[in-house]
Amino acid sequence: MIVTSVDILGRHLKPLCSRDNRVMKYESGGSKANTGDRASYHCGVEGCSVRYSSTDGYYMLIGMPDHANPVAEPGVNTARCPIHGRWLYRRLNVDAGPGVGWSCGVEGCDYGHNANTKGDWVRS
Ligand SMILES: [Zn+2]
Ligand SMILES: [Zn+2]
Repeated sequence: MIVTSVDILGRHLKPLCSRDNRVMKYESGGSKANTGDRASYHCGVEGCSVRYSSTDGYYMLIGMPDHANPVAEPGVNTARCPIHGRWLYRRLNVDAGPGVGWSCGVEGCDYGHNANTKGDWVRS
């Protein structure tokens, strides 16, 4: 049994925006920049509404403050962590080589897979 709460989004991740390929920054829920009520990552590019959290994967936050609704970003979320069942995020590929690297958004989880090699792809 895993004791770590899987609902806590790691604060030290470097997910890439699915649209801009920019490193997204952590924004706690209810903060000025984050109109959603939960912590998520956001790239900060003007007009970009794409966010990432481990429970929702990549999604867009559409609407006004206090009435913002998460809308799924189609085709982006493709894999979940086999340990936590949380959505993986795209990350900078420093040591995994060419291709898109994906990692689990749960704090302390080191699961990851490379979209090109599918070496540690796990189907459930
Ligand atoms: Zn973006
Ligand atoms: Zn995980």
